Amino acid sequence: MKIITTVQEMQTITSKLKRQGTSIGYVPTMGFLHEGHLTLLRKARQENEIVVLSIFVNPLQFGPNEDYAAYPRDFARDRSLAESEKVDYLFYPDEKEMYPAPPSVTVVAHQRTDVLCGKSRPGHFNGVVTVLSKLFNIIMPTRAYFGMKDAQQVSVVDGLIKDFNYPIELHTAEIVREPDGLAKSSRNVKLNQAERQEAVYLFQSLQLARQMIQDGERNPARIIESIRQMVETNTSGEIDYVEIYRYPELQKLDRLTGRIIIALAVKFSSVRLIDNITLKIEAK
Ligand code: AMP
Repeated sequence: MKIITTVQEMQTITSKLKRQGTSIGYVPTMGFLHEGHLTLLRKARQENEIVVLSIFVNPLQFGPNEDYAAYPRDFARDRSLAESEKVDYLFYPDEKEMYPAPPSVTVVAHQRTDVLCGKSRPGHFNGVVTVLSKLFNIIMPTRAYFGMKDAQQVSVVDGLIKDFNYPIELHTAEIVREPDGLAKSSRNVKLNQAERQEAVYLFQSLQLARQMIQDGERNPARIIESIRQMVETNTSGEIDYVEIYRYPELQKLDRLTGRIIIALAVKFSSVRLIDNITLKIEAK
């Protein structure tokens, strides 16, 4: 595995691969790798000749009161995990390399961002699509891999790829969970012991929602209320949102039908967690 820290070197390599017609599978991450990231890498490994992993904690996608400085980092560990997954190139630029000066142009996501995390983290998705535009131009992937853990991100990136005509296939992977159901996240290390126990109720409440739907419930408000109740009763966290939309359009629904997402975000003492399920509901 080769570690690349400059844009120029990365671009020289990927341009050459591109000219040779070599397929490039790309997994963008912010590091502190866990099984969720590794699943994406394994998919990329299976489906491409070359695998590129990037690790870059992108300051542009963090709000002023968010955890950019405190975001967990462990490059030595990430590097050895990447090596075990047979990554060919690990792109690891620093902030100065990616943003040598304040950006003169940034990308704005106009749709699918007025709900969920887009609403509670203003500017977040603009930061995401801006850095991804740069990374796509640097890595020139054939296929890019994203996790459904960040389902809204998948929806927004789908728009970016289509609207900006990137010749990239978007591939997704299901959420990887801890044995008790908590969605794996680099941020889980920020939970204290009691919160770690409580955090399982995010998943439990989504399971309850799934069960309600299986039992015939089609009213989103009633499902949202049950999720809220379960989280409020069983955790010390503060609910940021619990919402249900059509997926991937992220449009409101009065009655549940078709492909939907049920998503929630909960703030604990020093970390905000997100989780979701997507379901396909057949019309009755
Ligand atoms: P991050 O490093 O948090 O920016 O995540 C990088 C990629 O890994 C994103 O596409 C995430 O959606 C994905 N990812 C993070 N956690 C999980 C998980 N538990 N299961 C599946 N994919 C994940």
